[in-house]
Amino acid sequence: MGLFGGRKTVFVDADILVIGGGMAGCGATYESRYWGRDLKIVCVEKANIERSGAVAQGLYAINCYMGMQWGENQPEDHVRYARNDLMGLVREDLGYDIARHVDSTVHKFEEWGLPIMRDPKTGRYQREGKWQIMIHGESYKPIVAEAARKAATKVYNRIMVTHLLMDAKKANRVAGAVGFNVRTGDFHVFRAKAVIVSAGGASHIFQPRAVGEGMGRTWYAPWSSASAYALPIQVGAKMTQMENRIVLTRFKDGYGPVGAYFLHLKTYTENGYGEEYEKRWYEDTKALVGDYIDRHPVPTCLRNHAILKEVAAGRGPIRMVTKEAFQDPHKETVGWENFLGMTIGQAVVWASQNIDPKHINPELTTSEPYVMGSHATCSGAWASGPEDYAPAEYQWGYNRMMTVDGLFGAGDTIGGTAHKFSSGSFTEGRIAGKAAVKYVKDMTNGQPQVSEQEYRDLEKLIYQPLENYRVGRNEIVAGTVSPSYLLPIHGLQRLEKIMDEYVGGISTNYMTNGVLLARGLELLAMLKEDMSHMGAEDLHSLQRAWELDHRLLASESVTHHTLFRKETRWPGYYYRGDHMKLDDENWHCFTLSRYDRNTGKWEMEKAPVYHIVD
Ligand SMILES: Cc1cc2nc3c(=O)[nH]c(=O)nc-3n(C[C@H](O)[C@H](O)[C@H](O)COP(=O)(O)OP(=O)(O)OC[C@H]3O[C@@H](n4cnc5c(N)ncnc54)[C@H](O)[C@@H]3O)c2cc1C
Repeated sequence: MGLFGGRKTVFVDADILVIGGGMAGCGATYESRYWGRDLKIVCVEKANIERSGAVAQGLYAINCYMGMQWGENQPEDHVRYARNDLMGLVREDLGYDIARHVDSTVHKFEEWGLPIMRDPKTGRYQREGKWQIMIHGESYKPIVAEAARKAATKVYNRIMVTHLLMDAKKANRVAGAVGFNVRTGDFHVFRAKAVIVSAGGASHIFQPRAVGEGMGRTWYAPWSSASAYALPIQVGAKMTQMENRIVLTRFKDGYGPVGAYFLHLKTYTENGYGEEYEKRWYEDTKALVGDYIDRHPVPTCLRNHAILKEVAAGRGPIRMVTKEAFQDPHKETVGWENFLGMTIGQAVVWASQNIDPKHINPELTTSEPYVMGSHATCSGAWASGPEDYAPAEYQWGYNRMMTVDGLFGAGDTIGGTAHKFSSGSFTEGRIAGKAAVKYVKDMTNGQPQVSEQEYRDLEKLIYQPLENYRVGRNEIVAGTVSPSYLLPIHGLQRLEKIMDEYVGGISTNYMTNGVLLARGLELLAMLKEDMSHMGAEDLHSLQRAWELDHRLLASESVTHHTLFRKETRWPGYYYRGDHMKLDDENWHCFTLSRYDRNTGKWEMEKAPVYHIVD
């Protein structure tokens, strides 16, 4: 906190402020510099961009690569694939826009030093599946971060951004952001002409399967704290598809990825009695979703659905049959390396549980739900589309600009565009960066003005948990329990329990209904009331407090969206018990929400889905 507890206020002026230096943020920073040679481009990150975000530990595959140079796939093919997997509902304009540029991004990664495996016979990139290519990706993030570091005017690491600032002169225009340094405690005021939010997805809003000392072990990065959603929501940006949470089938207890196993090693699953089970649930699933079950590949949620039904019928656990593939020494090596490059914990779990996949078929399970916009679901902000491709109704300004002027997004932040993954997120960052530069260069009506009153009020609010703790700490009992404040861990556990029990988490087998959701909203509102009593003993705890605040707002959004969509569009991700069937007649649409921070009210509406690709 500095000498004598004093904290500095640091002012930073930027043309473009990028919040979150993960895959999308690095892409945005890199491309902003390309188009805006003379602009001041600042990237702010709560960790250190060298190893931050969901790719921190590395990856074994780049999951979005067309291979257009070899005629492998075309952008339209990817749109069809994503649309199919999302049961018909994607922003085809945004998805196409990413797909047509993603190959050039991957070529840049290779140029910057990322080792991409090649097929020795063809010389092409080694495919893991139709869209995936295999990489030696332990250093993926540092390689990408280096490009962003060289492009940025300055990267501010260790700054947790808590709020966006709005223009004091012009309504609905962004003007910057505030946050604090998680090491020194200094208050940061960023004044910017355009802001790109790329702050990752949301883990730990639903109760995870791993609890107690294992609670840090989640599938999505535990530090993905929903800032990508809360920051735009706070300032009234419209959000879309927030109900579309993702549930992953993964190796049990370590969340080890299964993609390489299915696609490259050609392993398959069976129930606890060694039987094939997916076909058994065909009619049942067809009754819920109709022809969607006949699509190829079978949508991810529907494959989860078969697993859930089989386990509920008492024939679990579901196992991955590895014993056959692992007899081949090459495949055995690939199987282990797959974890070592990105989820070392799974190898450790297997070692600790005496599981050698050559001799024992390991268990799979379904994860707790996560909210994100870049993997196999598409929650996020509602964004304007590309000028040359988006329908008129999807265009109100610059590409990837949200419904707030000057506020852009990319990666997990932007809704409607599933299956972009790491390469697509970086690509979307580039798209947003280019558009933001144009926005700044076109700015003729004066720069946004930041109000001193606004950031000073926020400063007081941001540090209040430290004050609450200082005043209330003498009253604690049992080590951590206080009548005067709530610690972030207590608030987090309360949030996870509400979401789990009322909004369709693991304890209810992903089931919810209108009554439960309405009660969930009441309980979330009570937690929100208590947030002003948050106590933080140090800066680390203060960061946790604001992460909780962001998770809570995102959770409220998820719950409102889930209540609004009166159908079960994605069985296997969640079920509306009161509307168990997919209803294309009424719900072949996007759900949109807008939060009014003055009244605390949410407005919900539908938006049309345009099928641009045949
Ligand atoms: C377990 C797992 C496996 C995956 N496997 C693959 C794979 O095999 N292949 C593939 O291509 N993709 C994979 N992905 C997907 C890929 O990692 C994501 O699509 C991509 O990282 C999303 O990019 P992003 O920039 O939106 O988020 P991130 O890369 O997570 O970046 C978000 C950044 O924002 C920062 N941040 C968050 N909040 C704040 C705040 N308030 N203030 C400042 N900074 C903040 C974070 O620290 C982080 O650096 C996987 C993801 C996970 C979690």
